[in-house]
Amino acid sequence: MPDLNTHVIVGGGLAGAKAAEALRTEGFEGRIVLLAAEAEAPYERPPLSKDYLRGESPRENARVHPEGFYADHDIELRTGTTVTSVDPEAREVLLADSERIPYARLLLATGARPRRLEVPGAELDGVLTLRDLADADALRARLPWVAHLVVIGAGWIGSEVAASVRQIGSEVTVVERAEVPLEHVLGRDIGGFYGDIHRDHGVELLAGAELKALAGESRVERVELDDGRAIACDLVVVGVGVTPRSELAEAAGLAVENGILVDEHLQTSVPGIFAAGDVANVAHPCYGGRLRVEHWAGALHQPEVAARSMLGKPAIWDRLPYFFSDQYDVGMEYSGLATGQDEVVIRGDRAGRELIAFWLRDDRVVAGMNVNVWDVNEAIQALIRAGQTVDRARLADPDVPLADLLPARNSVGARAANQA
Ligand SMILES: Cc1cc2nc3c(=O)[nH]c(=O)nc-3n(C[C@H](O)[C@H](O)[C@H](O)COP(=O)(O)OP(=O)(O)OC[C@H]3O[C@@H](n4cnc5c(N)ncnc54)[C@H](O)[C@@H]3O)c2cc1C
Repeated sequence: MPDLNTHVIVGGGLAGAKAAEALRTEGFEGRIVLLAAEAEAPYERPPLSKDYLRGESPRENARVHPEGFYADHDIELRTGTTVTSVDPEAREVLLADSERIPYARLLLATGARPRRLEVPGAELDGVLTLRDLADADALRARLPWVAHLVVIGAGWIGSEVAASVRQIGSEVTVVERAEVPLEHVLGRDIGGFYGDIHRDHGVELLAGAELKALAGESRVERVELDDGRAIACDLVVVGVGVTPRSELAEAAGLAVENGILVDEHLQTSVPGIFAAGDVANVAHPCYGGRLRVEHWAGALHQPEVAARSMLGKPAIWDRLPYFFSDQYDVGMEYSGLATGQDEVVIRGDRAGRELIAFWLRDDRVVAGMNVNVWDVNEAIQALIRAGQTVDRARLADPDVPLADLLPARNSVGARAANQA
């Protein structure tokens, strides 16, 4: 028989930790068990490629909750505890040491893991990925002896690692298959903008480059490209994306496709089991399709919806995708969802790197990115949600308040929100 008074959360990342908190905030008074494979209490990952990697902030700053939070809220946080299977019939999770924990409701917040390279030499010593605090510690421990780092992949993690290591002072080469960094998210134009930022800071950016092999005697010494070029190095960081950790769900018979499939309430295909964070592939009401976001904001906000759904309260996840990145002195926030084919309109000072980039489809704003311009995110999201055609010239004109581009009905609300 399921234990009707126990809710179990698998995964002690941001999503798992916020779900435990949300269950209490929403009034659940029963037992909450938070099962976390890592030895650490839940922490946030963004500092791992930024201030923590550069040695500018202590690990405590990354904690999701202050010391004592879990005990104070009667949440059983069990670190170093891996769930090996889920039995939906019996409503139990099985731990590596064979312990069984019954649940009334189960949340899977198992996150994602870095993709590995499939080239010769990928397993050499000195070839690292960055996902966990332990990865960041391993990378940090080597950095004082690194003269030349090669980063494979100019996505967000690769770009941020390149920026941080460059700021520390090592030589950095970035090898990217696409023509510009971040091309699949930002398109050619704005991806090129980021390419310029890295070059201006002394990064050697090898775009349009195909990796052939990593080579070295006992550890990595060289990165070899298809065109015959070889880059001497003493460390390689691989940032070629992540894959959702959905194997528990799959083995338990839940519907899985690019993550765990959930509806807008974050309910999986099996009653009583929910998923949130990087692992959840959500039916998103605003997009009429599925969305799996690998961003901090998804892991921060989805748990509240999941917790309410677990408690039988109404809730849907309909937030727009949102993420941020900091590289050198360039901070940005991105909202919405664009493709490389969408038209880009720039408002602001591109050369001075203070701008808002808008992506337009059928004359409507589908995404916006503010770079070193702050307190505009809410207005950008309102423009996306309005779904109305916009005047390009006014969109590009910094003297036209963003709220004035909204349809009349929304503009009052947006102005009020901006002034709040
Ligand atoms: C270096 C780095 C920098 C980032 N920077 C940014 C940024 O600037 N902006 C942004 O928007 N996003 C950023 N992100 C992305 C953001 O951190 C993720 O979206 C977020 O961490 C997802 O949280 P999660 O809880 O869903 O998954 P995770 O953080 O992956 O946590 C899942 C946890 O579940 C555990 N687990 C998995 N399987 C089991 C099991 N069977 N039993 C027990 N435990 C299990 C894992 O060990 C892990 O601790 C960054 C990510 C990284 C790695």
